[in-house]
Amino acid sequence: MDLTTPIQKVPNIGFFYSKKLKKLGIATVEDLVSHYPFRYENFGAPYKIEGINPGSLASAVGQILQIRNIRTRYGKNLTLATVNDGTSSIEVVWFNQPFLTKSIKQGSRVGLAGKVGLFSNHKTFINPEYEILYTKTLTNTTHTQGLVPIYPETSGVSSKWLRTKIKFILPTIIPKIAESMPAESLRRNKLVPKKQAVWQIHFPKSAAQIQPARKRLAFEEILITQLKALRRKEIWQGRLKGTKLNIQQEKVISIISNLPFYLTSSQNKVLKEILADLSRERPMNRLLQGDVGSGKTVVAAIAAYVAFLNGYQSCLMAPTEILAMQHFNTMKGILSPLGVGVSLRTSSIKRREAFDILIGTHALITKTVQFKNLALVVIDEQHRFGVTQRAELRVKGLTPHVLTMTATPIPRSLALTFYGDLELSTLDELPKNRKKVKTFVVPPKKRNGTYQFIRKNILAGKQAYIVCPLIEPSETLASAKAAKEEYEYLRKEIFPDLSLGLLHGRLKSKEKEETLTSFRDNRLNILVSTPVVEVGIDIPNAVIMMIEAAERFGLASLHQLRGRVGRGDEQSFCFLFTESGSKNGVARLTAMEKHHLGLELAELDLKIRGPGQIYGTAQSGVPNFKIASISDLPLIKSAREEADLIFKSLSLNKMKPLRLLLEKQSLVTPD
Ligand code: ADP
Ligand code: MG
Repeated sequence: MDLTTPIQKVPNIGFFYSKKLKKLGIATVEDLVSHYPFRYENFGAPYKIEGINPGSLASAVGQILQIRNIRTRYGKNLTLATVNDGTSSIEVVWFNQPFLTKSIKQGSRVGLAGKVGLFSNHKTFINPEYEILYTKTLTNTTHTQGLVPIYPETSGVSSKWLRTKIKFILPTIIPKIAESMPAESLRRNKLVPKKQAVWQIHFPKSAAQIQPARKRLAFEEILITQLKALRRKEIWQGRLKGTKLNIQQEKVISIISNLPFYLTSSQNKVLKEILADLSRERPMNRLLQGDVGSGKTVVAAIAAYVAFLNGYQSCLMAPTEILAMQHFNTMKGILSPLGVGVSLRTSSIKRREAFDILIGTHALITKTVQFKNLALVVIDEQHRFGVTQRAELRVKGLTPHVLTMTATPIPRSLALTFYGDLELSTLDELPKNRKKVKTFVVPPKKRNGTYQFIRKNILAGKQAYIVCPLIEPSETLASAKAAKEEYEYLRKEIFPDLSLGLLHGRLKSKEKEETLTSFRDNRLNILVSTPVVEVGIDIPNAVIMMIEAAERFGLASLHQLRGRVGRGDEQSFCFLFTESGSKNGVARLTAMEKHHLGLELAELDLKIRGPGQIYGTAQSGVPNFKIASISDLPLIKSAREEADLIFKSLSLNKMKPLRLLLEKQSLVTPD
């Protein structure tokens, strides 16, 4: 058995468990030993039974005097046992585990740990952790003494199960773990060797051993992420050639001065950065970060215009068809008068046609399109920041300039770490005409008042969004107002005299387009929608955003939704309805009343809900670390510096274990 051994080959795991382990991202022995505990239960040293007091947590070691199953009058299965350690006896009760009597027999020596209470006046362990001890030296326990690791679990795979397997394989595997970091790096950063860290993270002898183990493993995780980014950057920019574009200043100035507004100084600044990239041969790889409504699209349009002037094609990838259609209209508005051929590709429009700029979803463009001479790719509102798309383009033999746009507020230091291969441009101001969106958490009794307010605004020519969390009712989210039902209800009962539209992800793209066009042309007064409006829809005449069951959203998502209004110079409003009576839930929402910057709200959410919720999984683009915390900025900083040192010294080639980690492809999740 070594690190690469598939998990089903490990004794006592087999195919049955390997399927369950896949859900935890575990496919190999290495994955299993890097399945780290997220906390520890501290049972301490075993007590003498005579000294154990009811009402406390305790650990004990002793011999089973008797054990039996009974069924109570109410049909509950109890296993009752008496354990003696030479000082005294204690009772034990387990609920619903009648199989225990198969392995725990009279005379067995056991370790027990858990809550002790009083049962008919006897000291009793209530449903304790237990283990059978096969040796006379009673100290070698795994589950019932000292610090006991608690792991992320999945159905059928408990912490106890994981603990047993990990303890079983560690003695064989630890000697085979290669030290991935050079001795100087360890010394410079005061890190413990890897072998020691892996042992200590699973089975620390004392609390003082946990932190150094954690630090070491987290450091390595960040180091690898950073080295990967540096390598992607080197490949993308060092070896590949993009298209050097000529910037025709007068034409650029002319398109800018023909816009219906002045660019903000932020927009001017990032445009300069982008155009400078386009004028180089090395392909651009830039992240344009800007809060909702900061005006990213027009910047992209100008960049695409520059490519057009040079006789090259561009494409713009949007995450949804709805957004692709909107971009199509915006681009056409700005660029068609200048003779640019703007074309839209949706699942229903696939015909081959000549174009200068092609707009569609990521999937439609990367899969089906042949380009004549693609020089620029713009990727809008997407979270993996182009890594995947870039790889796909490379497969097609293309190395265009790539501009990725996002409204996800990631602090600069984090962005640089996770996406060290990207240059970063930030739009840090909103167009001057913007007013803060007035935001209110609305108590249920003011619901009718809110409807009246909406009606008043509509009669004055304005429009509103009403957002519900789900398309269809479902039992798990029974209280959520399904958009469809809500739409019917509002249309018949509340606003029978107004025209309402319904928008959700399951509509055909043609229906979506029609609805959205009607709303844009103000033929619909109210758009009832699932959160699909979250990404990027831009209709300045809509000034009210009403959100049902707002507690279901993170603050960053609420901010995105709110960003659909307040896009013109009118005062806009956002009403948050909640079904949650919980104080915390409401307090979180009231943050929306005070804060109007995406970054501030993301940081708040980070404090309230933790990084997993906001930056978790693929949603945000920030990688999901096993052990590193994205809020540990000092650690991130030093790991980044170490990565730079290693990369610059070119010694990576000599560091085989580290190189292997970099190249390792997970069998479970795509990298
Ligand atoms: P986002 O950055 O959220 O993608 P958009 O590009 O959709 O924002 O722009 C939001 C709205 O602001 C659009 O209606 C756009 O026409 C308008 N806009 C963009 N730049 C400016 C500006 N400098 N002044 C005024 N309005 C602008
Ligand atoms: Mg946008």
